[in-house]
Amino acid sequence: MSKNNKNKKKQNQPVGLWIALVVIFIILIAVLGIFLMENKEKEDQKILAYTDLIKELSYGNVEKIEMKTGSTTIKVKMKNVEEEKTTIVPNTESFIELVQTKVAEGNEIELIQKPRSVAAQIPSILISFLPTAIMLALFIMIFKMQGLGEKGKVYDDTERKTKIKFDDVAGLEEEKEEMIEIVEFLKKPEKFTKMGARIPKGVLLYGKPGTGKTLIAKAIAGEAEVPFISMSGSEFIEMFAGLGASRVRKLFDKARRLAPCIVFIDEIDAIGSRRTSNSGAETENNQTLNQLLVEMDGFSSEETIIVLAATNRPEMLDKALLRPGRFDRQITIPTPDLKGRLEILKIHSRDKKLAEDVNLESIAEDTAGFTGAELENILNEAAIIATKNKHEDIENEDIEEAVKKVTVGLEKRGRVYSEKDKKLTAYHEAGHAVVSRYLPTQTDVKEVSIIPRGVAGGYTMYKSDEDKYYISKTEMQEKLIALLGGRAAEKLVLNDISTGASNDIEVATKIARDMVTKYGMSDILGPIDFQGKEPYEMQMFGENMGDKIGAEVKTLIDTAYQEAINLLEQHRDKLDLIAEALLEKEKINEEDFKRFFN
Ligand code: ADP
Ligand code: MG
Ligand code: ZN
Repeated sequence: MSKNNKNKKKQNQPVGLWIALVVIFIILIAVLGIFLMENKEKEDQKILAYTDLIKELSYGNVEKIEMKTGSTTIKVKMKNVEEEKTTIVPNTESFIELVQTKVAEGNEIELIQKPRSVAAQIPSILISFLPTAIMLALFIMIFKMQGLGEKGKVYDDTERKTKIKFDDVAGLEEEKEEMIEIVEFLKKPEKFTKMGARIPKGVLLYGKPGTGKTLIAKAIAGEAEVPFISMSGSEFIEMFAGLGASRVRKLFDKARRLAPCIVFIDEIDAIGSRRTSNSGAETENNQTLNQLLVEMDGFSSEETIIVLAATNRPEMLDKALLRPGRFDRQITIPTPDLKGRLEILKIHSRDKKLAEDVNLESIAEDTAGFTGAELENILNEAAIIATKNKHEDIENEDIEEAVKKVTVGLEKRGRVYSEKDKKLTAYHEAGHAVVSRYLPTQTDVKEVSIIPRGVAGGYTMYKSDEDKYYISKTEMQEKLIALLGGRAAEKLVLNDISTGASNDIEVATKIARDMVTKYGMSDILGPIDFQGKEPYEMQMFGENMGDKIGAEVKTLIDTAYQEAINLLEQHRDKLDLIAEALLEKEKINEEDFKRFFN
């Protein structure tokens, strides 16, 4: 098996690489040559010989001398001469002494001594070595990347034992439960092998970014007290052929040396996506993927290596990865529920000073759908906002502001916009708010504002949904109406539409498409999963399926838009009232909003 690998590698030694190198070398020398020649010409006119400088000094013609620490090249400004000259001083210390005696004698010489700056002139010796040095560096780099440099560290690995424990991972109780078996295996492999128990070689973690996949992988290593070797799939995507595969090999060589250990491959979809076509980058990925499969099949159960991999796009993965003996165990890491969010907030506020009025429960309630990383981010932002507000400790308002900052971006009160834009924004936001007020499945409005935030001109915030596992079709339809309420109000009141609705439209389109292609909510097309299907797979559902799907998505959107218009026409008085209030106060909170409807 290993012989095979070697052959593969030889084939991959690219001739093109060497040609590229020679070309780079020639260009480099040429560019440097021109640069130096030009510089020399300019320099020649401005150079003042050292002996001449001494003469000028004794004549009292020197007005200013500028020197940089560690540089023998100085700048000299003579009286009545505009242009500064450059002189190379054989010995800076004795030169400074000389100048100082001149000053003591009554000469008015301004001596400026600057620390050496980045822009300091490159000493000429270095310049002549520069091309060689650059070439050397290039060669070393390439050799290392090719994996020929013997002990070259080619991948980013954290072989340090991590201190992260399961206690640092909030929520995810069932997932941790599943992981305990792995921890025990890493600690006492004999116990398991004696029993003939089959331990998974590979575990795939599925979940949105920021849900704690890396964290839990580290915690397993931390609990088992074994090294954690990690690598990100995107690092394998390289410009030189064969490199990805050789990196995989090195990764596993290292793992064998350090076993028992955890190998963590983040973003595995970058290498493990379906092997479909045969062209370019795909082929490179295939080699990398094949190498990964070879390595995973290669190590025996006596070698205590557990490979953990993470992805947020499980549907992209090559099925070969999921076969027995490879990543045959899959664990979904969900976005945290209410209890999970509360625990995450607790963990990340351990080292922060919270004011008495802070109620983590209510913040957890307000942040449905947030990931662990986002919650951590909110607490960090809150600390910054508290500092800005000169608060003693983090207050509830700081955290609420942080939530808004993370969701809609930073408030930009400074941005000036015209009366016309303001009116448009006011009607747009009022449109969202009024429409959703009349939609039973939509949550209450929490705040409406026309103060720009992030890229948004204004925003309508809703009270957070309680955690739900299922969303009904009605709810999704009404969500579409609420999203299009902004655009509908613009059309209705100003009889013109703007770019301000682009994000709403993007979100609405995605929801409508998911309804049809993922959740089977179209009456005409039925409960079929059309997502991520190859053209030939689509064919089996009949002719022109793409057109039919498109038509269904369009119908959903059109119907929702019309419904938004209807609702706003019906409640035009409320729309006007709220838009006017926004123009006056810029922001309306929950209570004020409710008052309009009493
Ligand atoms: P992923 O790898 O899934 O993208 P990470 O593990 O990198 O997510 O999570 C990023 C950060 O978010 C972590 O370092 C941690 O601070 C925080 N975090 C995420 N999930 C949790 C959790 N369940 N408990 C505590 N902190 C979490
Ligand atoms: Mg990660
Ligand atoms: Zn909008």
